[in-house]
Amino acid sequence: MKISHIEHIGIAVPNLDEAIAYYENVLGLKCYKKETVEDQKVTTAFIKVGDVKIELLEPTCPESTIAKFIEKNGGKGGMHHMAFAVEDGVAEALAEAEAKNVRLIDKAPRGGAEGLNIAFLHPKTTQAVLTELCEDPSKK
Ligand code: ZN
Repeated sequence: MKISHIEHIGIAVPNLDEAIAYYENVLGLKCYKKETVEDQKVTTAFIKVGDVKIELLEPTCPESTIAKFIEKNGGKGGMHHMAFAVEDGVAEALAEAEAKNVRLIDKAPRGGAEGLNIAFLHPKTTQAVLTELCEDPSKK
């Protein structure tokens, strides 16, 4: 697969507003967008750092995988996943990863925040980092 850059870093937070306040008031960065992704049971907030984005993820309900992640981390959340932008398409990248014995969480691309097509690879087969592959369909 051909990866062009780190699209974003996903960070799970129990409280989106408190997290945004830290990034804005301490680090001097700016949150430019909030978006709820019903499919993933999260509300996201995006912060730009150069060409890379930070995606803050707050669960919308206790059944959210992000809620479970936060619970496992003593209620504090933390670094959750790393997302790579793939140039040759997420479907193609998934097929390649599967052929190389990587466990797929998503068998096919689905819609994510910011209008991206996304899919996750299982951390058991990605050196313990939950890995997201993304493509921007508007740039195809
Ligand atoms: Zn993400």
